[in-house]
Amino acid sequence: MATVSFPSLSREETSILATLRQASGLSRAELARRTGFGRTLLEARLDALRQLDLVSQAGMGESSGGKKPELVSFRKEAGYLASVDLGQQTLAVGITNLNAEIVVQITAPTELRKGPDAVLSEVVGLIEEAIVQSGVGREQIWGIGMGLPGPVDPQSGRPISPPVMPGWHAFPVRDYLERELRWPATIDNDVNVMAVGEQWAGLGRSVEIFLYVKTGPGIGCGVVCRGRIYRGANGCAGEIGHSALPSNDGVCQCGKIGCLEAFAGAKALARAAEEMARAGQSRYLASIFRRQGRLTAEDLATAVGHGDSAALELVGRAGTVIGEQLSYLVNFFNPSLIVLGGGVADLGDLLLASVRETIYRCSLPSATKEIMVQRSVLDDEAGLIGAAAVQIVDRYRLVNFT
Ligand SMILES: [Zn+2]
Repeated sequence: MATVSFPSLSREETSILATLRQASGLSRAELARRTGFGRTLLEARLDALRQLDLVSQAGMGESSGGKKPELVSFRKEAGYLASVDLGQQTLAVGITNLNAEIVVQITAPTELRKGPDAVLSEVVGLIEEAIVQSGVGREQIWGIGMGLPGPVDPQSGRPISPPVMPGWHAFPVRDYLERELRWPATIDNDVNVMAVGEQWAGLGRSVEIFLYVKTGPGIGCGVVCRGRIYRGANGCAGEIGHSALPSNDGVCQCGKIGCLEAFAGAKALARAAEEMARAGQSRYLASIFRRQGRLTAEDLATAVGHGDSAALELVGRAGTVIGEQLSYLVNFFNPSLIVLGGGVADLGDLLLASVRETIYRCSLPSATKEIMVQRSVLDDEAGLIGAAAVQIVDRYRLVNFT
């Protein structure tokens, strides 16, 4: 029987697939040991999964005396997932296999302010292009997942008063994609999606309680509690970018004054770098500014790489401010891991060191005793991996899927 889109699976079947997906092949004895299932139950569930084409034989394992055992593996090419990472200025789409491994990805500039109709029609066009490039048949794709930069009501798949997406409030994003592409769609906040990506394929594997902090044009936090994304009462959990800082008077994109994002977000840092260039505080930045007429967070990163003292100070200060906000979260939530991802995290070791130092300095020693603060290992792919994985994780209620 051919695989159908998101077949209904029992808890045991889900658990077998979650165990198999991390290994290239396991013997039945090893699978029984890892899942804790008896042989009869395991055989029956494997039979059902074989019927769905989701497991296959993967050669023979090493013998421990007798006959060599047959190995079983997860057929991650039994289906594919479409994946969308919609940022404030960039749109990335991808096609992945069922293990959320990217087969094809395409990135294009976008402008959220054009509104949902214009932007979502770009999404659909780019997905169609990705399908062609991937060589995957349309009917092999099980569903589509998408992360967008604002709070989302998980029930309806509609953005809820997103601070940086004018015209998107309550727009039926999920229904639009389902109608245009004819697959089931899952819509979530971009940072939640990245946290799922980190949990699926990055540093968050088998970590029960962690925070994923995205520092790009916006700053947000994905909260993973007991292996699950915590979305809050209204889907707004983790919107730390719009917490006001007492010492900041910058105007934020959301219209409020003093938000963390208006000080340490990529756009705010680029603006501060331009001011330093104009004021003659950094010769290095001034020369790029003269040439380009503007500066970006990437230019700031280059200046840091060259050891420019004004750039070093600015990035150090941004790290301190982000670290102060995170220290409140550490004292409140006691995570064992904080992962930093997104464009500003590319400012590198200096930002990370400054965030880490501030967290240690401003949090309770007992809360930081075993905490790890690390850069994401998934780079720009966390969003696409997560938007694929979230479809599986949510549907099959996976927790700590290793
Ligand atoms: Zn704000």
